[in-house]
Amino acid sequence: MIITRKRDFQELMENIKNYKSLFLLGCSECAALCGTGGEQQLQEMKETLEAQGKKVTGMFVAKTGCQVLGTKVELKPFKEALESAACILVMSCGAGTQTMVELYEDKPVYSTNDSLFLGNMTRLQFFDERCSLCGKCILDKTGGICPITACPKGILNGPCGGCKDGMCEVNPDIKCAWIRIYERMKKLDRLQEFCETTLEAKDWSESVKPRTLVAREEKKK
Ligand code: SF4
Ligand code: SF4
Repeated sequence: MIITRKRDFQELMENIKNYKSLFLLGCSECAALCGTGGEQQLQEMKETLEAQGKKVTGMFVAKTGCQVLGTKVELKPFKEALESAACILVMSCGAGTQTMVELYEDKPVYSTNDSLFLGNMTRLQFFDERCSLCGKCILDKTGGICPITACPKGILNGPCGGCKDGMCEVNPDIKCAWIRIYERMKKLDRLQEFCETTLEAKDWSESVKPRTLVAREEKKK
């Protein structure tokens, strides 16, 4: 999931200072789980904005805010509320925000959140970064632990010389990613493979932005 964090409220107010009426859009997926764009957060935002003298013309939590066509269909019943709003506030990730930029070309759109990383929720409202979207996954070689993400240096054949008592040189609060990989490979009885494998330098051309993908398979004639 995409991990988001609420932006500074004063910054948001500065962005929208010239707009009296707003429409709020949340997202029932990642943003709701992060506590930045679910029903409750939209209601809280509405009350806060109204207390600041703003008018909220409508609000809606999209099923998946980064799904452009699906969101467009879901918003049909909110046509008037959207038209009468001077500005749209999107309480999701940057992708969800850009859905609204695409759908409402003539309206100012602002995000209430910062998008931080792709991660896992390990406990309620605790998030860990797990994948850097490198474009060519090497988890099959590392026992399922991503060194590009879990090692602050992104070292492919670690550990580096700074690892101390199994802990990371850069962040002593976390275990060295390569010690974790070693221990995992040991548990899986894959130590020999671990010792014999040298990971090649990554081909970063796979992650040149902006990336596109057509996943749909064309029908055979
Ligand atoms: S190797 Fe690349 S794709 Fe796989 S988890 Fe790590 S960053 Fe993500
Ligand atoms: S100690 Fe381990 S996790 Fe930390 S930077 Fe070095 S190799 Fe990476």
